[in-house]
Amino acid sequence: MKFFAITFILFSLVLLPSCMKGKKVDLVLHNARIHCLDDGNHIVQAMAIKNGKIIETGPDRQIMNKYQADEFIDCAGKDVLPGITDAHGHMLYYAKQKLRLDLNSCKSYEELLVRAEKYQENGNKKFIVGAGWDQSLWGENDLPNNKKLNALFPSTPVCLYRVDGHAALVNDCLLKKIKNLPTTIDGGKIVYENDIPSGILIDNAMNLVDPYLPKNNPNEIKKAILEIQEELLAYGVTGVHEAGISYDEIKILQDLVDQESLKLNVYAMLLDAKNNRDFAVKHGIYHHKNLTIRSFKMFVDGALGSRGALLKHDYEDQLNHRGVQISSLKEMQDLSSLCIQLNYQLNAHCIGDSANALVLNLYRNVFEVKKDHRWRIEHAQVIDPKDFLLFSEYAIFPSVQPIHAIDDSKWAEKRLGRKRLNGAYAYRSLLEQFGMLALGTDFPIASLNPFLTLFAANQRKGKDNLPLNGFEINQSLSFEQSLKGMTIWPCFAAFDENKRGSIEIGKEATFVVLKKHLVEQSEFSDNFSFFTFIKGKKVYSGEELSY
Ligand SMILES: [Zn+2]
Repeated sequence: MKFFAITFILFSLVLLPSCMKGKKVDLVLHNARIHCLDDGNHIVQAMAIKNGKIIETGPDRQIMNKYQADEFIDCAGKDVLPGITDAHGHMLYYAKQKLRLDLNSCKSYEELLVRAEKYQENGNKKFIVGAGWDQSLWGENDLPNNKKLNALFPSTPVCLYRVDGHAALVNDCLLKKIKNLPTTIDGGKIVYENDIPSGILIDNAMNLVDPYLPKNNPNEIKKAILEIQEELLAYGVTGVHEAGISYDEIKILQDLVDQESLKLNVYAMLLDAKNNRDFAVKHGIYHHKNLTIRSFKMFVDGALGSRGALLKHDYEDQLNHRGVQISSLKEMQDLSSLCIQLNYQLNAHCIGDSANALVLNLYRNVFEVKKDHRWRIEHAQVIDPKDFLLFSEYAIFPSVQPIHAIDDSKWAEKRLGRKRLNGAYAYRSLLEQFGMLALGTDFPIASLNPFLTLFAANQRKGKDNLPLNGFEINQSLSFEQSLKGMTIWPCFAAFDENKRGSIEIGKEATFVVLKKHLVEQSEFSDNFSFFTFIKGKKVYSGEELSY
């Protein structure tokens, strides 16, 4: 009997590769912890992939016995996630920023000046454009003025964007180029100090300097986008919802797709402009391989940091000021009607409680025509508690960026006061209303590292593990909800849930094998991709697996 058993096993081993392992596939991934993030939140060991699709998932034995593959990857117990999707990022803006003076994490106005001076000296720049400063990192609550900038650069025009992209500090040399500088502007603010422009332009006021800024070379932008793509793939990010592009930028993305150098799935939202509206009317829902355009981004208000967020009541730290309404109600209604007509999605940037209320009520129109419209509110940052219900009533998709909650926690109460903070950055409440939440990083305004966003959503803390007990911890998401917020839910938010976002039979084999274990933890620990796959193709390789 024993002899028979041994003979049988040997016989089986010989036969296995040729007859029992009948089905031929391209790739088998095994010895893994595959987080399917499907409805049942299954975790499996193995999956088989053919023609870029997942054809079976299950235990190692089942998959290994059934399939023959060109490539087997032994994951050595590593965690596998569906490809991460960043529901709100700005590749184009980041690309431009890479070509500009970098002012991120400047610790003082003086540091900003030093960096600007070096930048000019190194590149012999006749025009200085920079971005990334944040006066709250200098211990200042109020926005700066341009006096020191004027002293240092009396004859070189300078334009420096705030980290949130909703304010700019410009010097007098540049301001003087604007003929007849107005005192007020719709949807923006030109800050004056004692009747003299301070150099701060908020929201629409920034458009005044646009005609004088040097133009970027599209090839330089493309090169920068590909660098950004490498950064994203290294974190396992396989999709980005590009939150607002101009008409010229559509062409840049199309070219990169045509050259097959853009590997990410890009879901781009059009900024509201005449040529973009023409594009939407001409093309309708537009799919060009991995580039999809079927939505508009609409700016309703500014940012809380620069007091541009539109509030129902005065700012706690500025009496008689309630922020800036960037789009008029008429403009919003027009764009909303066009989107309904074209079956486009509308994604409105709303920070303040008043901006959110305006849009929550505006979206009632689309809900009446189409229940499953998936129109989004980007940020949904400050909500009047009585307005939360409207998210479920009109099926409005909240799209939020948890790292903003942590970054803003240092000063948000100053702007809003304690009471309004109860409805701010209230991600759990939003999730309870709609049942899904799309999570984004808002890079380059914040880091593009998705693991930081997942940690912030789950623990309500930043990279430095502060605040100690988590900011408004009662609004944290569970670990699993956080993961879904960067995988399957953003795919719902882009009408892609049947193609990708979870590990399920029939879906694209778009996934990441992670370098480190993926577990809930109270202290931040970074993670990276070991391998990133898009449609069954390896698009990024970290380093060799160590067994
Ligand atoms: Zn954004």
